[in-house]
Amino acid sequence: MEEEELCNDSHELGYIDCHCHLADDMFDKDLEEVVANSKKDGVSAIVVVPIGLEDFSKVLDISLKYRDILSPCLGVHPVQRGTEDQRSVTLADIEAALPEIEKHVDILCGIGEIGLDFQPRVCKNPSDKDVQKEVLRLQVEMAKKFDLPINVHSRSAGRPTIAALKEFGARNVVMHAFDGRPAVAMEGVREGFYFSIPPSIVRNDQEKLVKQVPIDNMLLETDSPGLGPEKGVRNNPSNLHISCEYIAKVKNMDTSEVRRITSSNALKLFPKLTKLFSGNAAGETLFSGYAGETFLSGNAGETLFSGNAGETFLIGNAGETLFIGNAGETFLSGNAGETFLSGNAGETFNSSNAGETFLRVELLFVTIFLSINTHVAV
Ligand SMILES: [Zn+2]
Repeated sequence: MEEEELCNDSHELGYIDCHCHLADDMFDKDLEEVVANSKKDGVSAIVVVPIGLEDFSKVLDISLKYRDILSPCLGVHPVQRGTEDQRSVTLADIEAALPEIEKHVDILCGIGEIGLDFQPRVCKNPSDKDVQKEVLRLQVEMAKKFDLPINVHSRSAGRPTIAALKEFGARNVVMHAFDGRPAVAMEGVREGFYFSIPPSIVRNDQEKLVKQVPIDNMLLETDSPGLGPEKGVRNNPSNLHISCEYIAKVKNMDTSEVRRITSSNALKLFPKLTKLFSGNAAGETLFSGYAGETFLSGNAGETLFSGNAGETFLIGNAGETLFIGNAGETFLSGNAGETFLSGNAGETFNSSNAGETFLRVELLFVTIFLSINTHVAV
């Protein structure tokens, strides 16, 4: 049985959801269950994207919490939530967001969701399209600067989006849920762009697109909670198999082959996802987090719980247990037997000699911590 093989062989690569909004409020109540079900249903990795700045911290938080399967992108979508209705993005939106993206760039697997949306209900002012294009350009520049792939939206703007990406010299692109004509998609294929197929493909008339785009340029996505197989019903990453089966049927391939190729494409486009599958030597319990963190781990038997990006961990000898809290902290640990209890962001701990215990008073985390013969309760 294919599904059993997937579960029993840890080296088997499952589905990869290349575009998903798990930070959406619709997942607030049961995200844990949704993530658990995704794993049970053979999903190996999920790329999480925000809409705008107000979602950034939630995207980062859930990506940290479920770091064995989620990986974050940050970016500003062409359509933002207005006070009453949705509105086209502004330069003020991107000016506020760019420093935040740059601050977290080391932990991102990509920049997104970015792109163009030329629906008339979104682009009400004559300048909206130009502003969207400038917001896209700034984020493509950011992606190029940090060598990150981009996760691209292109509603009612297939041709202008592909033209803009070519003009800006974008590389490493996934066009998500592309709604343009297949001939336009093929212009993207010639640039090496990928196209991710959502489960809503079963109710959209995009069979020609699936037929024409080569499997080597295809990815799977869900865009959860949107773009499910049934309109108006919340989508979730467990539905990736629906996209996979549809592609297999149209291209006359085995579903297992479609899954294998789309997942290996995803790892080519998002190389940072590879870390989700790397294991460690027996005895070590390493929860290694994000790129940009520096872990110099020592010997087996250490248990390292890492936190957020920007932290630098220099870890010494076996027997140390480090509990680490928030971003921006720098820990320079020394010798065995030391206990570090970290508190708030922005603090710097410089440890010196063995046997010392560092305690922060204003702890955000109430942590009970045990070290060698030392019981510290906070
Ligand atoms: Zn989306």
